[in-house]
Amino acid sequence: MSFTLAIVGRPNVGKSTLFNRLVGKRLALVDDQPGVTRDLREGEARLGDLRFTVIDTAGLEEATDDSLQGRMRKLTERAVDMADICLFLIDARAGVTPTDEVFADILRKRARHVILAANKAEGSAADAGVYESYGLGLGEPVRLSAEHGEGMNELYSHLMPLADEFEKRAAAEAPETEVILNEEGEAEDPDAVRQPTPERPMQVAVVGRPNAGKSTLINRILGEDRLLTGPEAGITRDAISLQLDWDGLPVRIFDTAGMRKKSRVQDKVEKLSVSDGLRAVKFAEVVVVLLDAAIPFEQQDLRIADLAEREGRAVVVAVNKWDIEDQKQQKLRDLREAFERLLPQLRGAPLVTVSAKTGKGLDRLRAAVEKAYDVWNRRVTTAQLNRWLAGMIEAHPPPAPGGRRIKLRYMTQAKTRPPHFVVMCSHPDKLPDSYSRYLINGLREDFDMPGTPIRLHMRSQS
Ligand code: GDP
Ligand code: GDP
Repeated sequence: MSFTLAIVGRPNVGKSTLFNRLVGKRLALVDDQPGVTRDLREGEARLGDLRFTVIDTAGLEEATDDSLQGRMRKLTERAVDMADICLFLIDARAGVTPTDEVFADILRKRARHVILAANKAEGSAADAGVYESYGLGLGEPVRLSAEHGEGMNELYSHLMPLADEFEKRAAAEAPETEVILNEEGEAEDPDAVRQPTPERPMQVAVVGRPNAGKSTLINRILGEDRLLTGPEAGITRDAISLQLDWDGLPVRIFDTAGMRKKSRVQDKVEKLSVSDGLRAVKFAEVVVVLLDAAIPFEQQDLRIADLAEREGRAVVVAVNKWDIEDQKQQKLRDLREAFERLLPQLRGAPLVTVSAKTGKGLDRLRAAVEKAYDVWNRRVTTAQLNRWLAGMIEAHPPPAPGGRRIKLRYMTQAKTRPPHFVVMCSHPDKLPDSYSRYLINGLREDFDMPGTPIRLHMRSQS
């Protein structure tokens, strides 16, 4: 498990230059799919022995009016929320500008870890700017020259300990996804058809904006108003999660609502509200994104749903407060349309309407959660996959760049939780993303796999 680094800062400080240096030629294909991550550039970075994902808010224009400044802010906030670490760049030659202060402010409020870097720091003309940047209150700046490749060792030494920390935390929190290969090189997962038991309950997180109804929902599932009044006999509960029997289904629910209420007392609301959803997603096997029917698909909802997909969790979208909707049919159509448009990466995830208050729809929610979990654990045999692949190729052959057709030779499922498939392929680098999407969508439909991210890797045979 590696981490995600966002390079942020105002236009012209050198973000793209640094991005290119870190990513080199391994630049990710630009994703032309409409969706939440559209205007962020992403690539796989290397620095020493570190491997991580780097995102860049590339293409920002100097903000000349309010709307542009708003856009810039939004894009930055999104990058910040997606990132484990933010690398904040200033231009040491220009010194600290008012726009830098705006960015520093966003970072102080939202980011989990910030590393300040004074770029263009080659030569002594930058000294004044470097010293000035101490005043941002973000610690000691790393002196960088993205253009000349200076300061990369120092950047490494800042990232290294954080990377270690993430690794440890991920190992402690993430559900198991160990892969064992048999003699044929196929993955064998002893947990592939695992059923949740009271000893190993299904891990569920209910996430959503404040007031979406998370506490009400969890209380309703518990059957009594116990959540906010502390542990009772028969319910094991620690600071962050509680275990219960959901009509025969052993689940452990990650309690973000409870955390928030606790955090309010400690006056750390802001800090927690960013990271609690994140921690919940890391903890969970199934993420229930709870929306308020009156204000569905707000930015915060989209962010957390996107994060759940990126982290490979099974996802169920629940629309709450359905009891106060009077145009239910029309509303449902609108919701489905918005869902498809705003969260194309979650295509096929179930959308369930519920009322946490009256309890209506909770049986369907339970069924959707159980099904999503099953699919997330599903294993498709290699024989089935290769029959299927042959049919897909016949229906729609891969392209032939330069007159030589790309050959897809063999396919297997390498991993479950979520399902990972590997296709052995000639020239995987030349296969367009659209072809991968064709295969993913086909898998989803033909093997009935809603509500789970599907990963597909193209490998060259060597
Ligand atoms: P972005 O808008 O933040 O992505 O900035 P760019 O990466 O496009 O860089 C803006 C300008 O600064 C370009 O002309 C770069 O060549 C220049 N630049 C980037 N890094 C350095 C550096 O380390 N030293 C100097 N002197 N110029 C740099
Ligand atoms: P949380 O912040 O997500 O934990 O939200 P709460 O569970 O505290 O609920 C916020 C408000 O929405 C409370 O006033 C609840 O009574 C109300 N609420 C929650 N679920 C429903 C529902 O299904 N229908 C209606 N009408 N109100 C609800």
